[in-house]
Amino acid sequence: MVDASVDALLLSVGADLPWLCGYEAMPLERLTMLVVPNDGAATLVVPRLEAARVTERSALFSLRPWDETEDPVAIVSGLVGRRDRVAIGDHTWARFLIDLQSAMPSTTFTKATEITGPLRMRKDGSEVEALRRAAHAADRVATRLRAGEIELAGRTEAEVSAELGRQLLDEGHDRVNFSIVATGGNAASPHHHPGPTVIAPGDLLLCDFGGTMAGYCSDITRCISLGEPSAEVAEAYAVLHAAQQAAVAAATVGTSCSDVDAVARRRIAEAGWGDRFIHRTGHGIGVEAHEDPYIVSTNSLPLAPGHAFSIEPGIYVDDRWGMRLEDIVVATDDGPDVLNRAGHDLAVI
Ligand code: ZN
Ligand code: ZN
Ligand code: ZN
Repeated sequence: MVDASVDALLLSVGADLPWLCGYEAMPLERLTMLVVPNDGAATLVVPRLEAARVTERSALFSLRPWDETEDPVAIVSGLVGRRDRVAIGDHTWARFLIDLQSAMPSTTFTKATEITGPLRMRKDGSEVEALRRAAHAADRVATRLRAGEIELAGRTEAEVSAELGRQLLDEGHDRVNFSIVATGGNAASPHHHPGPTVIAPGDLLLCDFGGTMAGYCSDITRCISLGEPSAEVAEAYAVLHAAQQAAVAAATVGTSCSDVDAVARRRIAEAGWGDRFIHRTGHGIGVEAHEDPYIVSTNSLPLAPGHAFSIEPGIYVDDRWGMRLEDIVVATDDGPDVLNRAGHDLAVI
């Protein structure tokens, strides 16, 4: 914070607070806020009725429960005092920031990710292992899917989506974050919402699912062909597979995120599908499903040991089909560590 000229850090709802102190703020109209000055002790300002849920860590922060008749914004601004630059959690409700701005008119507010982003981005050994366990749990579901052990033909996308979610929970996840099931032309929309479309023989099916397990996220995409794929689909998938593997191999320490993105994009463009790869190559992953570092052409950040991210190029043809292949990868001094183990070829069932 001193290096970044940030005098105090304010964290409320969102992933930064539980990542830092183990407590997740209720996303409600009563303000919960951790106040961390760059030169003093941290204080968690919390509604009195929620204080019992906080595991006290007196070595790290003290508690300041507030009563219903008190003004929590005044308490926070009192704890902050006169400060030039204050970083506030990106997911903090605007109403609280607006009230804090009025209470501290001479203070400049910046985004807390300036401080927490670089810290959260570099996973330590226990975080990598938590990501690996979540990835392996998702792999077991993906492997059953690829083996034809999950009924597809004749069921709706929504039914298969619910089933994938149930299996993630059975495999130890605490929460399902998303379960995209998109068949045929629906898959041309990368974030298609699974609906009543019935999965039919001959379809190319895209499944992208993930959840949170012991605080860390999984995220995997695999495609299934119900019957032999058309020559066009088989060809495009071979390009996609090669592009994904090349980008994974390129994700070495010191390589920029933009260069990793370019490796995937070049392969797909060379095959003539460049304008059909309509999103970045990947996103960081940790306590949030999407976080820094983003694998995108505008991010010049070099990969460092402990960076964890997805590599997920895709090719989408409107109204006809869509395909994506996604693994979670950790940059290490020994090269890219691919956390997912489920097979990568186009599963034909
Ligand atoms: Zn996505
Ligand atoms: Zn995904
Ligand atoms: Zn992803």
